[in-house]
Amino acid sequence: MARDLRGNLDMTDSDDFMQTMELREHLVREVAREVEDGRVLAALRAVPRHRFVPEHTFDAAYTDRPLPIGFGATISQPTVVGMMSEALELDGTERILEIGTGSGYQTAVLSLLAAEVDTIEVIPELAGRARKILSDIHCRNVHVHVGDGWKGLPERAPFDRIVVTAAPDHLPEELVDELAEGGLLVVPVGPQTRDQRLERHRKLRGELVREDLGAVRFVPMVHTRAHVR
Ligand code: SAH
Repeated sequence: MARDLRGNLDMTDSDDFMQTMELREHLVREVAREVEDGRVLAALRAVPRHRFVPEHTFDAAYTDRPLPIGFGATISQPTVVGMMSEALELDGTERILEIGTGSGYQTAVLSLLAAEVDTIEVIPELAGRARKILSDIHCRNVHVHVGDGWKGLPERAPFDRIVVTAAPDHLPEELVDELAEGGLLVVPVGPQTRDQRLERHRKLRGELVREDLGAVRFVPMVHTRAHVR
């Protein structure tokens, strides 16, 4: 069932694609220290990360580091994107909900690994920018929503996988409700100032089974007062 990754991102004609080939290979070797899943590594190799960080050089864009993208947000570190994607155990058939679109980089990686991705970003400017880039690189199985991730997307639930790339201070109940039976929720939980842990929850017979995947550091998942949707 696994789909051909390259089939989704139509970039083979692009000069940038050829120019950044070596940098991509180097980056994938770095990520492969922590990530084994071959499909995840192939997706990281395929996504043109430099498109998501336009003000940086190719070298900076393909370094295994998070980078600022404005509005207090960061594009995630490729190794972290790889680890989270691997933790989602994707085979290409899943519908994913992502909270915290940011640059859209992780969204693009997920779009190559799953059937469909809905992603929610609270900052309209970031959502707009991500939507444009994802469309430019022909990511067609992605829907970018401006909204509050705490609420999820009830009208599109249930989701086979939910991944959160900002840190809530507690597990959002709405997201648990929107997770399908047998589904996985990967989320960094904890306040910014103290320890955040990456948690994976599996929904089995309606109950959550929790696993601790280690220490992480994400921007906080904000509580919005404004009705953004
Ligand atoms: N994975 C992204 C990085 C996300 S940074 C990437 O690769 O680029 C975290 C993002 O979560 C930020 O863009 C921030 O604006 C967003 N965010 C924070 N709180 C949110 C909320 N309540 N709902 C939706 N998005 C939120």
